[in-house]
Amino acid sequence: MKLSRRMSGLSTESAFKVLAQAQSLESKGIDVIHLEIGEPDFITPKHICEAATEALDKGYTHYCDPQGLFPLRAEIAKECEKTHGISIDPECVVVTPGAKPIMFYSILALLEEGDEAIFPNPSFPVYESMINFAGAKAVPIQLHEENNFRFEIAELEASITSHTKLIIINSPHNPTGSVLEEDDILAIADIARKHDIIVLSDEVYEHFVYGGKHYSVTSLPDMLDRTILINGFSKSYAMTGWRLGYAVVPSELVDPIVRLIINSVSCTAPFIQYAGIKALTGPQDSLFQMVSEFRRRRDLIVDGLNAIPGISCWRPRGAFYVFPNVTKLGMNCQQLADHLLKEAGVATLAGSGFGDCGEGYIRLSYTTSLENIEEALERIKTVVTKIAS
Ligand code: PLP
Repeated sequence: MKLSRRMSGLSTESAFKVLAQAQSLESKGIDVIHLEIGEPDFITPKHICEAATEALDKGYTHYCDPQGLFPLRAEIAKECEKTHGISIDPECVVVTPGAKPIMFYSILALLEEGDEAIFPNPSFPVYESMINFAGAKAVPIQLHEENNFRFEIAELEASITSHTKLIIINSPHNPTGSVLEEDDILAIADIARKHDIIVLSDEVYEHFVYGGKHYSVTSLPDMLDRTILINGFSKSYAMTGWRLGYAVVPSELVDPIVRLIINSVSCTAPFIQYAGIKALTGPQDSLFQMVSEFRRRRDLIVDGLNAIPGISCWRPRGAFYVFPNVTKLGMNCQQLADHLLKEAGVATLAGSGFGDCGEGYIRLSYTTSLENIEEALERIKTVVTKIAS
């Protein structure tokens, strides 16, 4: 079968591949500690599940408004006003099955051959994949460990051409856990305004900040009209499998995105949207407990990795990942990740799966218990000591 040429640009997420490999080992009786997949290990809070059951009982099981139910869009607008101090029209909110489809739709709606889109490297692999799929040129900005994996503003400015249409930012960041500072956001906004560029700001980890503050580019003057603000329920409310995400978009983008929704998924399941309303309006203590538990785990895993000769780990300020430097171990990062899975039963991801600038690093997701993290550290230490000797 001859596939379309555009399919060759579409890559995948290594997390799903490694998860399958780990599960295959488990089916053979091998014990694996999962540090590969980026999803909270907490259960979805009970009041959210109850809201979904109630909505099912009430019969919210049919097609609904492709843009998203108005009551949910209104709550999302209120939530953004509360967190970013900006006034948002619910008519500019679109709801999708997860945050990912919004990336797909906005990139397809905006980019075509001849356009350029800037993205951080390393980063969530879907950005580069989607830019390629849309036929545009993906322009990487390397995130340097020495700069705490934040955008180098001078490099960003130097990468702008008359074809640059989009800048993608993600803070807190997957896979490094970096957080953009206020100065970074101000500089990115200045560049976007000066060169008339749209910003796609992926803020799915906005609540996972350990010290300091999350800054959204949307809260700066005139930025709401040129920003696609992406967020969702997967991470904050431990709802990865529910598939519920949203974006606040400039008004001209609403209709194209809704047409893409109609042509693909029709709408987001209404009973799940009712659960989303409950997530935003109900008690937030599970979110706060989860964030403080992640902070404890971050400290344990960073300190533990830094105690292993040959590994050095920068202490991230956000998300739930660590991205240790493993260049001194004398293996490329894919070989190391494969070795850790086979020899130690610890599933991690090679940094190169997040872009070529991720070579020399591995990503560990600390979405597992403190006991599992301690055990994983022991196992990694044993294997790494053998490599070194
Ligand atoms: N954005 C980033 C940076 C992510 O890391 C992820 C998931 O890992 C997503 C978006 C996808 O979120 P969702 O489950 O809402 O599609």
